Amino acid sequence: MRKKIVAGNWKMNCNQEEAYSLATEVAGMWGDEKNNDAVVILSPPFVFLSGVRQLLKGTEIKIAAQNCSGESQGAFTGEVAASMLQSIGTEYVIIGHSERRLYFKESPEELVKKVNSAMGNGLIPIFCVGESLPQREADEQEKIVTSQLSDGLFHLEQKDFEKIIIAYEPVWAIGTGKTATSAQAQEMHSFIRNEIAKKYNDDVAGNLSILYGGSCNEKNAGELFSMPDVDGGLIGGASLKSRSFVNIAKSF
Ligand code: PEP
Repeated sequence: MRKKIVAGNWKMNCNQEEAYSLATEVAGMWGDEKNNDAVVILSPPFVFLSGVRQLLKGTEIKIAAQNCSGESQGAFTGEVAASMLQSIGTEYVIIGHSERRLYFKESPEELVKKVNSAMGNGLIPIFCVGESLPQREADEQEKIVTSQLSDGLFHLEQKDFEKIIIAYEPVWAIGTGKTATSAQAQEMHSFIRNEIAKKYNDDVAGNLSILYGGSCNEKNAGELFSMPDVDGGLIGGASLKSRSFVNIAKSF
C-alpha cells in the first residue's frame, strides 16, 4: 500500500545522550502535533538502535537501520546481520545509500545479498538510487537509475517487491544544500514508477512509496511532497534537529 513516509537518516552522528534526546523530542512533538497519516521512521547508528527502540515503545515511530550485512551470521567481524536487527524490533533498513556505494564500494551483487537478507528476516528495505553530478550533467540520470533498480531489485518476485520502499536521492543534492527542484524530483519519481510498471505492473507501481532525498528541509518539503509521485522524504542533515524533522513530517 502506498504510504506517506518521512525517514530520518542520522548517519554517523550523535553520542548516546544526544541520540536519546533527539528520539524523545521527535516522539513528543510528533505525538502532540501529528497532522497527517505519515509513517515516521528514525534511523540512528547501530549502537543506539535498541535504546531508541525502547524509548519509542508506545509511540507510532518506527526504527530503521542504516545498513545490514548480506551474510546471515559467522566470521564477519564488524558486520551486523539482518536477523540481529529484526530481533531488536527494527522494521526497516536503508540499503544502497550513495555513501555506502561510494565510500564502502558496495557492489550491485552485495546489494542484492543485503536486500535478500533483509527481506528474508522480515525487514523492509528502503532502497536508494540516484545519479551523481557528472551523470546528471551528461543527462544519464534515467540510465543510471534504471540500472540501479534492475541490478538491485528486479530479481525480486512481485510479492516481495511490493514490500519495498524506494528513495530517489540525486547524489549531487545529498548534504550539499542543493535540492532538486520539485519538477526534477517529480520527473524522476514518475520515471521510476513507470519502470516499475514495465517490470511488474501498474498496481505494483501505483502502490510503491517513492521518497525523495537530498537537502530536503522544512522550507522545501511542502513543495516536494505536493508532487504526485513524491511520497515523502529520506532526510539526512535536517533529521538531526527535532523541530526541523517534525516540521518536515508535518509538510504533507
Ligand atoms: C541522505 O543522506 O539520505 C540525505 C538525504 O542527506 P541530506 O538530507 O543531508 O542531503
